Amino acid sequence: MAAETATTAMTNTEPAATADGDVILRVDGLKKTYATKDRSVEAIRDLTFDLPRGQLACVVGPSGAGKTTLLRCIGGLLEPTAGTVTLDGTTVTGPPRGMAVVFQDYGRSLFAWMTVRQNVELPLRNQDMRKSDRARVVEKSLEAVGLDQAMESYPWQLSGGMQQRVAIARAIAFDPQVLLMDEPFAAVDAQTRADLEDLIRDIWKRTGVTVLFVTHDIDESVYLGERVLILSGSPTVVQEDLPIDLPAERDQLTTRSMPRFAELRGHVYEQIQRAKQATVPGDDEG
Ligand code: ADP
Repeated sequence: MAAETATTAMTNTEPAATADGDVILRVDGLKKTYATKDRSVEAIRDLTFDLPRGQLACVVGPSGAGKTTLLRCIGGLLEPTAGTVTLDGTTVTGPPRGMAVVFQDYGRSLFAWMTVRQNVELPLRNQDMRKSDRARVVEKSLEAVGLDQAMESYPWQLSGGMQQRVAIARAIAFDPQVLLMDEPFAAVDAQTRADLEDLIRDIWKRTGVTVLFVTHDIDESVYLGERVLILSGSPTVVQEDLPIDLPAERDQLTTRSMPRFAELRGHVYEQIQRAKQATVPGDDEG
């Protein structure tokens, strides 16, 4: 039966990573326990996965599953309790040069007193780059996100969606090997969100950058990803590593009305429900 075949194909738990040489990011036995004054919280129990160079992978999981914690550990912003993160063969011990992060809170990630151009240019100032080259990179990045007409504006003069485009331009100007995105579109309206999703797929296709995109939105994960990593409830492990076998050319109308899209989103939904039920309330140590 067709439905059974689809489900069988979806329950593949084999990692989607390819041969070792193609791996850009490796998360190996990652564990993170937060120590607070009177107790400790095991946010991530044991996560292991590889990201092949050039992949766009999404991470979904119930609220509190440790998605933000995972991204912060990968980005070198938080020290893992155990396990390692390796970027292109080098262990991550602090924010690495080859990674850029886009957060949900664009309002706080941009400097209000700097123009759009200056905001995008800021991280490039520490780089060994001629001023004219720097200006070209900034302009190209802003062009890529459709903001070349707004370079001299200030962030507060722009809509939320436009501000997030500035944050994306700043990240890609840096020419990262891996782009980490932590629920970047959660704070914008549905139409803007759809446009930004298409922008990310467009940038990904044009630049070939590896993207790890964290979201709690099931539809978004299926629409964007070539692969969806479904995290279990706390304490967190990878519950399923799901390849997304939708055509590479995607658009909001056609892709989202495909029967396969509906099957995949239904499957991820079920898995997240399972993850939520398996969550042990107050499963803390100490
Ligand atoms: P998600 O992004 O999936 O919602 P988080 O990574 O934010 O999950 O949180 C995972 C778990 O770790 C939650 O139980 C949360 O309460 C806990 N946690 C997150 N940050 C801290 C912190 N700084 N101190 C203590 N516990 C934390």
